[in-house]
Amino acid sequence: MTLTAPELERYSRQLLMTEWSGEAQERLWGARALVIGAGALGSPAATYLAAAGVGQLGIVDPDRVELSNLHRQPLHFTPDVGRPKAEVAGAKLNLLNPEVVVETHPVELTDRNAEAVVMGADVVLDCTDSFESRYLVNDACCAQDVPLVEAGVAAFEGLVLSVRPGESACYRCVFPSAPPAGSRRSCREAGVLGAMAGIVGSIQALEALKLLTGVGEPLLDRMLQIDGRDMAQLVVHTSRRAGCPACARV
Ligand SMILES: [Zn+2]
Repeated sequence: MTLTAPELERYSRQLLMTEWSGEAQERLWGARALVIGAGALGSPAATYLAAAGVGQLGIVDPDRVELSNLHRQPLHFTPDVGRPKAEVAGAKLNLLNPEVVVETHPVELTDRNAEAVVMGADVVLDCTDSFESRYLVNDACCAQDVPLVEAGVAAFEGLVLSVRPGESACYRCVFPSAPPAGSRRSCREAGVLGAMAGIVGSIQALEALKLLTGVGEPLLDRMLQIDGRDMAQLVVHTSRRAGCPACARV
C-alpha cells in the first residue's frame, strides 16, 4: 500500500515520530481491531484507533445510550440518548475517519458467541465493566489465540494488562478467581470520573497500537496500576500460571 496525499497529511504527526514509519502505518491499515464495549473505556479507545488509521474496527455493545452515560462516554452525545451504542459509536467513528471500515455488533457477549465474535481479530480491547465479562473475553481470546488488552476502571483507580495468549500472562493467570462479591466495586457501584476512564481507555488504545505495529513495548507480563488521586503508577510484574484453564493449552 502506498499512502495517498490525504493519508500522508492525516497521519503526518504520527509519521513524524522517529519510532513510527510508513511500514507501521501500513500494518495498522491492514489490521482488524475489536472493541468490546462502547462506553467509558471503549469511547476513547475506539476514537484513537480510528483516528490512528486502524483499517477495520469492530464495535460490540448491546446497550442503548442513557443520560447517565454521557459524563464518561464521549462518543455519545445528548441527542443520542435511547439509540443503540454500537450504531452511535460507529457513525461518529466514520465521521472522524471515513476510510476506516467500522462493523457494529449490537449483541451481548455470552459464553456461546464470545469465541465467534473475537475470531479473526488482530487485537481485542476489553472495554467491559465486570469481572465476569473480562473472564469471558480473556478466555475467548486465549482459545482463539487473539492478542488482548484488558482494562478496568472504578472511581480514581485503573489497571491495564496486555496479553499475547501462550506467551504472556493472561487475565486469568493474574486473577485466577473473581474477588468475593462486594470486595471490589465496579464503576456501576463505585462511580467513576469520565476523565479517569479517558486516561485508561487511551492507554488501552496505545497498547493496541503497539501490539499491532510492533512499535514500543506493550504491557506483556506487566500490569499497570494507576491512581488518579495522586497520579501514582505501579507496574506489577506478572507471569503465566501453570495449568491456567484459559491459556495453558495454547
Ligand atoms: Zn492464563
